[in-house]
Amino acid sequence: MRRAVLGCMALFAAYFVLARFGLLMGAVAGFAAPVWPATGIALVALRMFGLGLWPGVFAGALAVNLHAGASILTAVGIACGNTLEAVVGSWLLGRARFHPAFERIEDVMALIVLAALCSTAVSASIGVGSLLLSAVVHGEGAFDALRAWWIGDALGDLVVAPALFIAWARPRLRGRPGIVAEAVLLAIVIGGVGVLVFGHPSSFLRHPFILFPPLAWAALRYGQYGAMGSVLISSAIAIAGTAMGLGPFVERTLSDSLLQVQVFMGIAAVTALLLGSAIAERNRAIDARDEFLSIAAHELRTPLTALSLHTQGLLRQLRGTAAPPSRAEIEERLTATGRLLARLTRLIEELLEVSRIATGAIELRREAVDLADVARESLSRFEVPLAEAGCKVELTAEGDLHGQWDPARLEQVVDNLISNAVKYGAGKPVEIHLRDRGDRAEIEVRDHGIGIEHGDQQRIFERFERAVSRRRFGGFGLGLWIARRVIEAHGGAIRLTSAPGTGSTFIVELPR
Ligand code: ADP
Repeated sequence: MRRAVLGCMALFAAYFVLARFGLLMGAVAGFAAPVWPATGIALVALRMFGLGLWPGVFAGALAVNLHAGASILTAVGIACGNTLEAVVGSWLLGRARFHPAFERIEDVMALIVLAALCSTAVSASIGVGSLLLSAVVHGEGAFDALRAWWIGDALGDLVVAPALFIAWARPRLRGRPGIVAEAVLLAIVIGGVGVLVFGHPSSFLRHPFILFPPLAWAALRYGQYGAMGSVLISSAIAIAGTAMGLGPFVERTLSDSLLQVQVFMGIAAVTALLLGSAIAERNRAIDARDEFLSIAAHELRTPLTALSLHTQGLLRQLRGTAAPPSRAEIEERLTATGRLLARLTRLIEELLEVSRIATGAIELRREAVDLADVARESLSRFEVPLAEAGCKVELTAEGDLHGQWDPARLEQVVDNLISNAVKYGAGKPVEIHLRDRGDRAEIEVRDHGIGIEHGDQQRIFERFERAVSRRRFGGFGLGLWIARRVIEAHGGAIRLTSAPGTGSTFIVELPR
């Protein structure tokens, strides 16, 4: 409670100061300000600390408008609009699962469309409506006020809000040699270009587009920090210069000039934000690739090491002076070797599938198949691993289990489900039930092992997704993804019911 009151008071103070500043900057009809950073503060505060802070916005807006000479009714109307704007913007961003680090293009799009365009329309229309009702504006004047209001608020969401969101979310910035020196140089260049463009009554650098290369430089090298930092610096210089009657955007009145600057800065901010998020997406892809390569190398090395130990051991025995290994010993060693080779082959097959499946649909070679045969063959392949894990197996087949399917692909699916049941089944019994469901056939694979948390049950069917620690269980997290793709290619579906500690049941439905 105390925190909420303090939060509201802090927001009230910040809102009041920024709004006062906005009203002094060429507000149309005294109230419709083309520069309105308060919108950005309000949006961020409500998004990060909860909608409960709305009284801070309301009180700030009410106070500043009364102070500027609005009647009580007008001030209340405007304050309602400003408050609704922050509430609607913040709520919409929440619905869109917006993340404040702007590391995905979706987040930038959400900010632009939901906050900067939609939520600000609420404030602009209610605000100008209040001015119309109290006859502060009329006719053409209302249109000018609406335009200034909307653009001013939108820029608060596009320039001020992202800078605060990023400062709050603090996305990761990779260190590199010279990172600070380059940032200083960048700031000097941005500041210098800004002053050259916006600080001269007339100069050869009047083209504001000169700002774009340094903005791109900032976003490319410093992600969203660079993008929003440089937008903030150039925006401050542009507004200050224009307010002093300098630079390329000077028009007849201050509000007209500021509107021109703001539209330009809005485009610059959107460009920089999109660039910054694209850079973040690229970096994430690179990180994922590096991580995957190291996992893949590790996964492949484990069976290879065991394999080489087996063969070396056997060779030593054969070459040594002691009695050569018996037939039974050799057979045992070779069986183990064969198992390791099978595991390596499966891993490599999974890796090959990634590029094969990701790039296109799965090609099926359909023929008449009996599911019971597929299941029996899979089980025979896993006879030894199942026995080693101590899992008893039960297979039941009821009714007609024939259909037109791709047998090799189905084996892949069943192999994967059985291999998971062995791996995650904690040595408890594994049951496989095949059922005739009329136009469909059903495969159920049930184990009584570690189970899967509810929150992970969807995710594990995606590529590389796993719900276990890498140290305890090896694997790429590809098996279920491949299985799902194969089943979907057959027009079927795979379902899962599971609870941690009690086991998992996978059910595959295959239309015949
Ligand atoms: P991998 O087994 O190589 O990790 P999968 O795609 O086959 O890849 O499985 C993805 C994840 O789903 C596993 O990492 C594990 O967390 C979970 N999982 C799959 N099958 C089971 C099961 N029978 N019991 C518990 N967890 C399972």
